[in-house]
Amino acid sequence: MKQVENSRQKYTESQAYLAGGVASSLRSAMKPTPLFAAAGSGPRIRDVDGNEFIDYLLGYGPLILGHAHEATASRVYEAMQRGITFGLQHEGEIALARRLTEILPCADKVALSGSGTEAVMLALRLARAHTGKRKIVRFHGHYHGWSDTIFTSFPSSDMRKSDAAAGLAEDKPIAAGTGGQSELALEEIILLPWNDAAVLEAALREHKDDIAAVISEPVMCNSGCVLPKPGYLERMQELTQELGIVMILDEVITGFRLGLGGAHGRFGLKPDLVTVGKALGGGIAISAVAGRKEVMALIEKGTVSHLGTLNGNGVATAAALATIAELSQEEGAVFAKMEANASKLVEGIRSLLAKHAIPGLINHIGPVFHMMFTQEPKVDDFASFTKRDAARYTEFSGYMLEEGVLVRSNGLWYLSAAHGVQEIEETLAAVDRALAHL
Ligand code: PMP
Repeated sequence: MKQVENSRQKYTESQAYLAGGVASSLRSAMKPTPLFAAAGSGPRIRDVDGNEFIDYLLGYGPLILGHAHEATASRVYEAMQRGITFGLQHEGEIALARRLTEILPCADKVALSGSGTEAVMLALRLARAHTGKRKIVRFHGHYHGWSDTIFTSFPSSDMRKSDAAAGLAEDKPIAAGTGGQSELALEEIILLPWNDAAVLEAALREHKDDIAAVISEPVMCNSGCVLPKPGYLERMQELTQELGIVMILDEVITGFRLGLGGAHGRFGLKPDLVTVGKALGGGIAISAVAGRKEVMALIEKGTVSHLGTLNGNGVATAAALATIAELSQEEGAVFAKMEANASKLVEGIRSLLAKHAIPGLINHIGPVFHMMFTQEPKVDDFASFTKRDAARYTEFSGYMLEEGVLVRSNGLWYLSAAHGVQEIEETLAAVDRALAHL
């Protein structure tokens, strides 16, 4: 067993001062104890007990260039030396906004915020103000941050796994995502199963006079990395255009991960609005809403307020510009390398699942994939996702930790540009040994 005594002690200490002992609720679930990081470098992270891991958690997604990327760190440091935040305008904001309008196909204009949750809040307000309607369509298994307006089915409906397996979950009333949340906010939510164009069309037509927006992850990364069925998002785009509904693609995970133009660039879509965050700042807090000028114009007119003391600060804009500059090198070479490594890893794990005769599958796109143990021949919606053996995967993730590989206990893996063939080979050897334990 790996020695994690220092992490254990620090967790006890942390619980005395930090509510819940962690800074984001999800982190407390880590077994055998939430680990304390000492430092990260490229694809690897070291904890306070001196254990080193190949990192596929990557800060829950933002570290697209790996830990402590030198060129970005030095550009952020240079920016800090000029001043961290001004409350005045500065050129970094223009440079970043211009660059975003160049690379995100749907972006006529952009607005900068601090987190994915805030970007989604702004996008929903823009949609409501633009349409003069109130209802929001969202989908089972998607996650869009934890604001009152939208925090519903994740992770709560996933926890109602047995209900879902029995086909009951989708009939249940919408549950709040957390205690203390206004239930009133959720009255405006229409919760649908994702990846079913007929269900979507029926709901949109029935409630078209009330629906302001449809919000969707373009790939259901939060529940199984499920790809959209061919034509599904295109149909969503046609229907929303026809019915006067704002289409929001939440690209907080897929933005700057599935390519510079995000998933909508990759799939050739033109949603009205997209939200991006995570990889945009390479680990520094920044997010953005980008979209069509008619909708973004509500901010210019003052109809929709867009506020935030630290919005567009010098450090965040420098981090985003530096991250984008790295990702833009040599016409997509960085993405090509990440994708090749991810495919190699995914193919390797698939062969190992077969070798150990363990029923499981991997949903995969670009440098993100979801590995699960399941008897299902395919997982292409939330209902089939809930049938996986989540407990067995958590056990597997524990063995992976023992083998020196840090993976999320829910099955989602991220790769960075810093992961190379060496890491992939070490990881596959670790997977082989971990599967043997199961
Ligand atoms: N949208 C999606 C698709 C996400 O995955 C997340 C975070 N996991 C968010 C929004 C919220 O982002 P943040 O945690 O930065 O508030």
